Amino acid sequence: MSDATTVYELTNVSKTYRNEGKDFTALRDVSFSIREGEIFGIIGMSGAGKSTLVRTLNRLTDVTSGSVRYFGRDLAELSSRELRKVRRSMAMIFQGFNLLQQRTVIKNVEQPLRIAGVPRGERREIARKMLEIVGLSEKEKEYPARLSGGQRQRVAIARALAADPKVLLCDEATSALDPKITGEILELLAKINRERKLTIVIITHEMSVVERICHRVAIIDDGYLAEVGDVAEVFRSPKTRAAKKLVFPSNPYDPSEKDSRLLRIAFDGLSAKEPFIADLVATTGLKVNILSANTKSVGGVGYGQMVLELPKGEADREAVIAYFKRKGLAISEVET
Ligand code: ADP
Repeated sequence: MSDATTVYELTNVSKTYRNEGKDFTALRDVSFSIREGEIFGIIGMSGAGKSTLVRTLNRLTDVTSGSVRYFGRDLAELSSRELRKVRRSMAMIFQGFNLLQQRTVIKNVEQPLRIAGVPRGERREIARKMLEIVGLSEKEKEYPARLSGGQRQRVAIARALAADPKVLLCDEATSALDPKITGEILELLAKINRERKLTIVIITHEMSVVERICHRVAIIDDGYLAEVGDVAEVFRSPKTRAAKKLVFPSNPYDPSEKDSRLLRIAFDGLSAKEPFIADLVATTGLKVNILSANTKSVGGVGYGQMVLELPKGEADREAVIAYFKRKGLAISEVET
């Protein structure tokens, strides 16, 4: 257990939808927790159960079994009055922005404050501050229809922040945006996380989103929790098939033979500098084909990866694998 406060604790969460006698289980025995102040990613392919999962976080969906605790309180045990109060501390942004089209930008941002009964003058003051945070002060009198997608999402973020939430849930919030605007919105979310220490939960099907700003990630596959951990760690050595598929969406390598075996080596910034390929040749006399090599920065940690084609004979292949293992490198086979 970490000593950070736990915002969400999911324990053996299962969800079965019951429609006209037909059952469909969308979540199966999912357990993980989300800590205060972190950016936590929930990633999975379409249909994996992500939306169902996020709806259990604000109890828009009741779990079939297991529990979702929010700051230690089981959401299932709250009265509807308590639940309303708790929900006000969970802001949400969506792929479709969900702005009120007939209202100006500033009125949209004021909306949660109006619901909470904050007096008009104070409302305006808070809303202006929020628009300043998202860099849209000059647009307060515009209507959403006249804004770009990125600007609309900024308004939605300002509105989410206005209620001073404890957690911000982002459901595919950048999926409708192009890569450049996605980058800007993620940058803004990271800034808000840093400056306001706001816990952010990001639901996405895109690994690049997780890679860019999340600290930890849960991978959901067919209703199961496939993996959970630090983003850098999951990237460095994805253990499950689902995680490997997300880190490597398809096999982009071009081996020289059909039955080639490919090895992926992941290393941190330090060992990346070691000339281990040259050393491999020097110590074993065996050669490998480098099919791809790159380095990235994930959550501030530099890491790199290389995909190698192993030599032909099985004995030589095992010798190369043994060499990398001796070196303590994180290796995994790439599925071809
Ligand atoms: P994701 O957000 O990862 O795409 P969802 O949580 O939306 O996944 O859906 C997971 C699975 O549950 C899908 O197969 C979907 O068809 C099913 N599902 C979602 N909502 C319902 C519902 N209300 N009734 C029956 N099945 C549902």
